[in-house]
Amino acid sequence: MPKPGEERSAGQPWPTFPMLYKVTSAHEEGGERVYSVSTTHFEGDEDGNVQFLHLVEVEFKGGKLEQKPGTERKIPAQLVTLAMGFTGTDQANGLVQQFGLELDARGNIARDAQYATNVDGVFVAGDAGRGQSLIVWAIAEGRSAARGVDRYLTGASELPAPVRPTDRALTV
Ligand SMILES: Cc1cc2nc3c(=O)[nH]c(=O)nc-3n(C[C@H](O)[C@H](O)[C@H](O)COP(=O)(O)OP(=O)(O)OC[C@H]3O[C@@H](n4cnc5c(N)ncnc54)[C@H](O)[C@@H]3O)c2cc1C
Repeated sequence: MPKPGEERSAGQPWPTFPMLYKVTSAHEEGGERVYSVSTTHFEGDEDGNVQFLHLVEVEFKGGKLEQKPGTERKIPAQLVTLAMGFTGTDQANGLVQQFGLELDARGNIARDAQYATNVDGVFVAGDAGRGQSLIVWAIAEGRSAARGVDRYLTGASELPAPVRPTDRALTV
């Protein structure tokens, strides 16, 4: 991603949450932030120890990230920490496959307005359905999904549903 601006841009009007350049105490401890680059591969020595990270500059073109030819370079690296954020529902533990759950375009478990998945009697709430979010959403979705389950089991429900699966916060 490019370096964020220091002021709210026209594309992020109030009350949306602006993506601004920040310097936190962790940043003040040192290190260099590199923007608009993509790691292409790692280079190691004969024993498999990482030695270099290969980068290329990227830019957004027509909504897609494109590599800029001729901008390849490498930087020394002895330790690489991957901090990639939420990249979809955990596939490794097999739950999604074992149930045969359908995913949405973002890799989250798809659900309808009652939090029901494509599998009869299986409901999803929280990060697995919404994507990486906040505790308050997980709690509110859990309560709302309980209403969906109650309706599924008894045909009706008096339980509250504080949020819908499609609700989004203006600020987080
Ligand atoms: C590093 C980090 C910092 C965060 N900081 C904040 C913060 O400051 N404030 C905030 O509001 N939110 C924060 N969040 C987000 C918050 O933690 C999540 O939004 C919230 O925990 C989602 O709740 P959940 O119940 O949907 O999912 P989870 O809390 O992920 O719970 C899912 C549970 O399912 C279990 N599970 C998975 N597969 C199986 C299986 N096959 N069988 C049985 N159990 C299974 C998992 O072990 C896990 O316990 C943070 C998240 C991270 C990763």
